[in-house]
Amino acid sequence: MAVSIKNIALLGATGSIGLSTLDVIARHPDKYRAAVLSANSKVDELLKLCSDFKPDIAVIAEPEGYPALRDGLKKLGLATQAMSGPQALCDVAAAPEFDTVLAAIVGAAGMPSTLAAAKAGKRLLLANKESVVVAGEILMRAARENGTKILPIDSEHNAIYQCLPSDGNQQAVRRLLLTASGGPFRGRTRESLASITPEQACAHPNWVMGRKISVDSATLMNKGLEVIEAHHLFNIGADKIEVVVHPQSIIHSLVDYVDGSVLAQLGNPDMRTAIAYGLSWPERVDSGVAPLDLIALSRFDFEKADTSVFPCLALAFHALKLGGTAPTVLNAANEIAVDAFLNEKLRFLDIANVIEATLSAFSAEPVRDLDVLMAVDNQARIKAQEFVNKMVMQ
Ligand code: NAD
Ligand code: MG
Repeated sequence: MAVSIKNIALLGATGSIGLSTLDVIARHPDKYRAAVLSANSKVDELLKLCSDFKPDIAVIAEPEGYPALRDGLKKLGLATQAMSGPQALCDVAAAPEFDTVLAAIVGAAGMPSTLAAAKAGKRLLLANKESVVVAGEILMRAARENGTKILPIDSEHNAIYQCLPSDGNQQAVRRLLLTASGGPFRGRTRESLASITPEQACAHPNWVMGRKISVDSATLMNKGLEVIEAHHLFNIGADKIEVVVHPQSIIHSLVDYVDGSVLAQLGNPDMRTAIAYGLSWPERVDSGVAPLDLIALSRFDFEKADTSVFPCLALAFHALKLGGTAPTVLNAANEIAVDAFLNEKLRFLDIANVIEATLSAFSAEPVRDLDVLMAVDNQARIKAQEFVNKMVMQ
């Protein structure tokens, strides 16, 4: 019997997750096909991927890139159709020809296309954690109502997914334990972080990732966003989610059951494992990740996260407890602050200050619909930018 090939819409193809996904897809041409590739503004990188993978559609999110993409595809002699703009991302995410959507755009910019995939009943491989933080309730409801299978790609959530009961009965779950590497500044004092540069913040000890998530890992906001993500994906209260620092990044997360059993998922820190799991579920395929060598590793360490040095983690828990629109505000302020830091317009330690000030400036409102969220997201960005401007580096 012929096995049907899965047609994947890969949104954020030129990024770290995107390229890891293409690596897994290329190992299994009999099973998977990159049918849609998208990028934000880098037309040349997108064209190179199109020439390698020959997708049906290539989307450049920034409309100015459209003529260069269209002409470049023609020059390459490819039948790939060029599209552009944010709406095109939603259209391809919802199009019935593509059965699987891999959401690997960075930031809340990925939310509309992630939601479009959830509404279209796709298999949704979810790396874009910000869309869950910003619109978790709406996204999960859309997935429930449309029979969408969400497979978490964030390594911690992928680990938890693998360790939870497959029948969905979570009554015996006592806690979810999210592991954190601690980032490049684990063990440092607050004072020693005063003049951190973007390059230092992006030099993660275990993972190679995009610049925004690298900074999030350095402030521990990444873990904070992941706590909120876990709350929505697994429908579990903040009081049942704990963070433990595990510098080796081999145990990707754990589920603690009432009988004292603790199940964990382990592996080398390489996102291709989670991506291959999502692509092949409920089966498994080779991901190209090297086998784990426990003898060479020899030990695992664990410690508590230090929220006096890394207040972003506590701010995320606070936003989750406030609920409603507070996580949307948290995420918007973080995106503005991280962008300013990466552009050397804000000090590393002021990232948390901008977020705290922005969170305090808004009261948490119930999430009535997407329009409310988008308006709050927009207002929070404006407010956060004001705080950035006030704290601007001399
Ligand atoms: P990245 O910066 O390397 O890549 C981002 C991709 O999104 C690129 O293809 C870029 O062109 C596209 N993009 C950026 N802004 C866009 C916009 N406004 N509109 C449309 N497209 C846009 O990021 P990454 O490290 O691959 O992370 C992607 C997502 O996956 C993030 O949400 C991140 O938190 C999550 N994630 C990443 C990792 C990792 O190891 N890199 C692990 C877990 C989760
Ligand atoms: Mg993660």
